[in-house]
Amino acid sequence: MRRTRVIATIGPSSWSSESLEAMLDAGCDVFRINYSHGEPEEKTELYQRIRSLERNGRTTCIIADLPGPKLRLGNFEGPRLLNSGDEVRLVCGVKEAIGKEIPVEYGGLSAEISEGDSILLADGLIRLSVTKTDKKNDSFIDCIVEDGGPITSRKGINVPGTIIDLPAIGPKDDAALNHALENDADYIAVSYARTPNDLTPAKTKITDYGVHTPVIAKIEHPSALTNLHPILDAADGVMVARGDLGVEIPLEQVPLAQQRIIDAALMRGMVAIVATQMLESMTLNSRPTRAEVSDVSTAIRHGGTAVMLSGETAMGNHPIKTVETMSLIAEATENGLDSIVGKPGALSKFKSTRAVAHAGVELARVSQAGHILVATQHGNAPRLVAGYRPDVEVTAVTNRLRAARRMKLLPGVSSVIVEEDNRGSVTMQNAIRLLAEKGVIKSNERVVAISGSPQAMQGATSTVRLYRLEPDGSITGSE
Ligand code: PGA
Ligand code: MN
Repeated sequence: MRRTRVIATIGPSSWSSESLEAMLDAGCDVFRINYSHGEPEEKTELYQRIRSLERNGRTTCIIADLPGPKLRLGNFEGPRLLNSGDEVRLVCGVKEAIGKEIPVEYGGLSAEISEGDSILLADGLIRLSVTKTDKKNDSFIDCIVEDGGPITSRKGINVPGTIIDLPAIGPKDDAALNHALENDADYIAVSYARTPNDLTPAKTKITDYGVHTPVIAKIEHPSALTNLHPILDAADGVMVARGDLGVEIPLEQVPLAQQRIIDAALMRGMVAIVATQMLESMTLNSRPTRAEVSDVSTAIRHGGTAVMLSGETAMGNHPIKTVETMSLIAEATENGLDSIVGKPGALSKFKSTRAVAHAGVELARVSQAGHILVATQHGNAPRLVAGYRPDVEVTAVTNRLRAARRMKLLPGVSSVIVEEDNRGSVTMQNAIRLLAEKGVIKSNERVVAISGSPQAMQGATSTVRLYRLEPDGSITGSE
């Protein structure tokens, strides 16, 4: 059994139906659609392609990742090579290049930046130092290239130490969020969250739309580390976004920041995604470096619930092989461990659900049950059960396809769709029967059923039952 979830970012290397299906077969649990590139409307078909793979009881899960207040270069012909020592001019508030100048979309940068500041491009690979600016909006920034390299259109820009005066959800994010909601994305990732308030506009919009789509806070700005606990209190999941984080804070501080973020998530029984450059060399090569293998394994051993691929699957040469490799590393790591770190969700919301979840996990342990079933409407009860990292398989029992899709991101959780009966016990026994038919639950196995009452899914989680599947197919209570 592999509990850790594998997330693959979709891009030109992987967006054909054939590739998407091959990635699912190779072990991809969740697809990430990155709204930083392209127009929202261009992604409609991608959603349709992914959902059309939902055959034979297979569900798919999609994270919609909003661009966030991240500065980006505009469009220009290229790749263009910047050599160390070159003098270059950035022009701000410009989408398309005019001549040799490098366009920067955000017009405020020339006003906010000062002479002597560093500007980093392409995840920090290229460093410019500012020699002159007139401190006006929509103006120029003259720079000297300190560390050279190639740049292409729409590459990210980081100005460490500067709080860029952009809202958490700007017009681009708004359009992306609308598109994601219209297309029923399963999770919304909010980029560059700096404070808990940065999550509010997205959360409000989701609520106003009438859905419960969970929000993942991407930790990639130094302020997010200062405000880590309040941000996690406001979020449903977290991503260690090491790409930008490693430019915004000194690189050597990233591993411990990663651990702090994971620990804070574990305390809440939340998903913690570790992202960026996990198998970076597989963008070109068919085998990863030993250090990369170790990085994926470390993220899991330290408590990360999901590991993510970015450029590797979006524009790499071996998207399927990369997913396969990541999945193998996760499996080998988990199989070699006695138990995976599971820290009770002491800081979780849904405190009574957590307590009942804990009771269910404990009952499964002492009764040597083979399965835990958890009834759910929105996915919180299975999330908290998974937060305790039980040794046995967890199956979410729900009547909502939306909830079933969401489960794909939770560590060690699968799902089954059943109707809600008026009595919770009947719903749970129906689920056991269905799983027995599928061969998931075997005779003489004990099953812990966690549910609400009087109705299993709609009622607040309050009930833990122990059942046993008899050889004649009947379900009895068990001691
Ligand atoms: P991005 O986020 O890929 O949207 O930049 C991840 C990161 O910064 O690591
Ligand atoms: Mn980022």
